[in-house]
Amino acid sequence: MVKDYYNILEVDRSASERDIKKSYRNLSKKYHPDKNPDNKESEDKFKEVAEAYSILSDKEKRGNYDTFGDPNGQPQNPFGDMGDMNDIFSQFFGGGRNPFGGRGSRRKKGGDIRINVHMTLEDMYNGEHKTIKYRRNKKCGTCDGTGGESTTCGNCKGHGVVNQIQKTPMGRVQSTVTCPSCGGTGKIITNPCGDCSSNGVISSEERLSFDIPKGIMDGESLRVTGKGNSIKDGVDGDLFINIIEKPHPTFRRSGLDIHQRVNLSYKDLVLGSPIEVDTIDGKIRMTVKSGTQVGSMLRVPQKGFIRDNQRGDMIVEVWLDIPKEVTEEEKKIIETL
Ligand SMILES: [Zn+2]
Ligand SMILES: [Zn+2]
Repeated sequence: MVKDYYNILEVDRSASERDIKKSYRNLSKKYHPDKNPDNKESEDKFKEVAEAYSILSDKEKRGNYDTFGDPNGQPQNPFGDMGDMNDIFSQFFGGGRNPFGGRGSRRKKGGDIRINVHMTLEDMYNGEHKTIKYRRNKKCGTCDGTGGESTTCGNCKGHGVVNQIQKTPMGRVQSTVTCPSCGGTGKIITNPCGDCSSNGVISSEERLSFDIPKGIMDGESLRVTGKGNSIKDGVDGDLFINIIEKPHPTFRRSGLDIHQRVNLSYKDLVLGSPIEVDTIDGKIRMTVKSGTQVGSMLRVPQKGFIRDNQRGDMIVEVWLDIPKEVTEEEKKIIETL
């Protein structure tokens, strides 16, 4: 949950550096623990005020906070913890989570793969079931990713590292280095796998089907754990599916709202008229009131994007359709106005 730092500091979003400082001084005096001994509430408030000040007094952090809602400059992930998404995908793909991929793991990880998926606004609104093909380095099935039959490296006894003693002016110094004989794997391949040239991986074409959730936005990405590149003696990398919005001929998205321009005649604007407009899920009828000004924004509630149980609006920007050619008769009529 992102805190409203402006609210905490009791200033508005356009407040100057001086205003922010002034308000911070007043509030931190007010809630100072010395003044409010054994008062948990004001202690929390005191901390909160300090946190808000540390963000809003820092130009860069304030800018990021204003833009992304996060002082560290990352857009908030609207789908919450990506872990949830992984769980969905892991289940979907048969739970390929690698037991060695945990925190503190020393195992090497294969490279991540990024794939762009271009979507129409309609598909982003409805969600989409998608199948993609891409190439990845996949564990070789013949040797099970080992690169071939092997024996334990004699030089390091399978540890992958050896102790090295160096003579320095300070005396003899012992250090641990990667085993030069096996390159750190602890194994020497005695019978190389022919299918992968003892690389343990082969390049293969993958076919992957997945669901893109409703309401996804341009620039967001979905992670599929373990579907990136495999690596010999390591953990599989991940696949990232980057969502890119295709330009729409009439709609422009702004958060959950959808904007569009509608050209109307002078007569319709002056006298008012029922009109028909497209929305993301079908046509609707609406009424333009008499005396509507060019540039007016007519809000049609609940006709925007749906996400997290919220729905945005459709915003119709009114434009005037000026005819390029008029007949003599029309000219006369217009002049009588
Ligand atoms: Zn192989
Ligand atoms: Zn070795």
